[in-house]
Amino acid sequence: LKSFNPVYRVVMLGPAGVGKSALTDQFMTSEYIGPTDNTSIDTEEEKIITVQLDGEESTLSFIDPEDDEVDLDETKVDAYIVVFSSNDRNSFDVAVETLHQLREELATDKAIILVANKIDLARKRKIDIEEARSTALKYDCKYAETSAALNHHVDELLVGILSQIRLKQNPE
Ligand code: GDP
Ligand code: MG
Repeated sequence: LKSFNPVYRVVMLGPAGVGKSALTDQFMTSEYIGPTDNTSIDTEEEKIITVQLDGEESTLSFIDPEDDEVDLDETKVDAYIVVFSSNDRNSFDVAVETLHQLREELATDKAIILVANKIDLARKRKIDIEEARSTALKYDCKYAETSAALNHHVDELLVGILSQIRLKQNPE
C-alpha cells in the first residue's frame, strides 16, 4: 500500500534580482526529479516537482513570489529559502532582517536555508563565508552557496531543503 504523500510547500524569499526565479527554474531540471509529472499544475509563482531521495518520493511546491510583499506567516509553509546575492550587501541585510522576522517575530521553527547565490561572481563578492555562516548559525538555519547561472550546488540545495523538512516532520 502506498503511503500518503503530502505536498511540502517551500517559499523563496529575498529582494528582486537575487536569483530566486533562476534557482527555482534550476530545481525544475534537477536529476533528483522523480517519474511523477506534475507540470500541468504549475503557474508563474508556484512550481511543483516530485523529488526522489533515499528511496522515497516527496512532492515539493516552490512558491516564488514576484513582489517583495510576501505574507511570511503562511501556516501552510513547510520551509523557507532565504536568498541573497553574494555580491550585494543590501540583499544580505534584507536576508538578515527576514531571518529576524521569521525566528524572532513569528517564532517559527520551520526549516530555513540561507542561500548565498551568484557565487560565480567571486571577484565581486561582498559577504564572506564566515559572516554568512555565523548569521545562519545565529538563526538556526542551514547555509548554502549556489550559482543558479552555472547550476552549481543547486541540487545540493534541493536535497538539503527536503532533508530539513523530513527531519522536522520526523525527528530522530
Ligand atoms: P529574482 O528577482 O530573485 O527572481 O531574480 P532572477 O532569478 O530573476 O535573477 C535576476 C538576475 O540575476 C537575472 O539576470 C539572472 O540571470 C541573474 N542571476 C541569477 N542567478 C545568478 C547567478 O547565480 N549568477 C549570476 N552571475 N547571475 C545570476
Ligand atoms: Mg523572480
